[in-house]
Amino acid sequence: MEEILKKSATEQSKALRNKEISAVELAEATFKRIDEVEPKIKAFNSLTKETAMETAKKVDEKIAKGEELPLLAGIPLVLKDNMNLVGSKTTASSKILENFVSPYNATITDKLLNNLVPIVAKANLDEFAMGSSNENSAFNEVHNPWNLSKVPGGSSGGSAASVAACEATLSLGSDTGGSIRLPASFCGIVGMKPTYGRVSRYGLIAFASSLDQIGPFARTVEDAANLLQVISGLDPKDSTSLDVPVEDYSKSLNNDIKGRKIGVIKELMGEGLSDDVRKAIEMAIETYKKQGAEIVEISLPTLKYSIGIYYILATAECSSNLARFDGVRYGHRCADASCLLDMYTKTRAEGFGPEVKRRIMLGTYALSSGYYDAYYKKAQQMRRLVKEDFDKAFTQVDALISPTCPNTAFDIGARTEDPLAMYLTDIATISANLAGIPGISIPAGFDADGMPIGLQILTPQLKEADLFNFSYKFEQEHDYYKQIANV
Ligand code: GLN
Repeated sequence: MEEILKKSATEQSKALRNKEISAVELAEATFKRIDEVEPKIKAFNSLTKETAMETAKKVDEKIAKGEELPLLAGIPLVLKDNMNLVGSKTTASSKILENFVSPYNATITDKLLNNLVPIVAKANLDEFAMGSSNENSAFNEVHNPWNLSKVPGGSSGGSAASVAACEATLSLGSDTGGSIRLPASFCGIVGMKPTYGRVSRYGLIAFASSLDQIGPFARTVEDAANLLQVISGLDPKDSTSLDVPVEDYSKSLNNDIKGRKIGVIKELMGEGLSDDVRKAIEMAIETYKKQGAEIVEISLPTLKYSIGIYYILATAECSSNLARFDGVRYGHRCADASCLLDMYTKTRAEGFGPEVKRRIMLGTYALSSGYYDAYYKKAQQMRRLVKEDFDKAFTQVDALISPTCPNTAFDIGARTEDPLAMYLTDIATISANLAGIPGISIPAGFDADGMPIGLQILTPQLKEADLFNFSYKFEQEHDYYKQIANV
């Protein structure tokens, strides 16, 4: 692999500006790397070479004219395959959308193209982003670059694995219950879920609209911060996007954290935590102490209910969002229907995979009359209590830390037979989505088998600058991010 591919976006940008490499050469090197390792990793559903090369050429033209380059111009990036890019297939890794071609761009796509970011591929995911291991994709299984027999995490498994394997420098994922942070942790990279509403969801295929957020993957904290800056902002096409100015996150990365308060989430340091993960988090605590932060223990009493709350709300919302895939307007339609109802039924039976069907059934049940009050309404009330737990915690501390997951990446196939075990993988990440707060996973070491461990940091809503600051300070003390998987 060419050395430049292992570099961060910041370093690659410098090389482009100094004319050490052209954007076209960087894109070509990226596609060469993809050709080499993709047969092993299977991170992508499709390549978007044409748009990537077109954008790279524009970058080179600007450089030749001596014009100022926008942030991240020329840096190869991957979109999760539930985000629209005109002319590309957007499948959500579902058979029902196998041949669906995006008729319009997502807002994040427009923002990236405006900044001349070459989009090189559409990444594999769990079908409709439902899963924690990428094994629910209707297409390929994605392999973890650190050990090909392990899962990359999900649902943004392809987005995470591709950046870890240097098939791209940056990628985007979506996080409804942990789908950015978990794969970032399993693949040893940085993955960040912004505050709900920070990034427009227009053009993202909806899973659970009150929880979904798009966010960045990168190999360094600074790159993730810059990518968030590019994609953030108010969007008239998404009424839940926030009318709050976008910050220059790079300015506060290196702020002194002396005297700042960090809470360690008590419930996530107990039972079920692997020894190696515990040690890594204890080491992180020591790092922060050394830097002058004050560490306290914080209890989040509702945390133990978060999975239950999530699996009522997320499934209820998905049952409604996925109603549109009925063979009439989008994607697959069955061949031999006898009447309209038969067409709906057969189309959906053929088009959706088992996990998506399970969720639609659970969600429809939770919303059905007679059960709505017992399940959906109760879960909404509990969601408020989760938010209140965080509000209270953040009166005492500036940030909360925990492992991103109690364990490192597991073997492909190990949890597919047991949906509940799979759901429990997200115990540390789901609460942030319920509360709408930002969260990040950053590399925090390796277990005895050489698999990456992730440290999760959470801050109050719209405190992304703090989140990146705490992350950057940790990164400066350790060089885990410099280690690249050997594929
Ligand atoms: N693993 C969780 C689920 O299966 C979260 C998915 C996500 O964040 N998209 O729903």
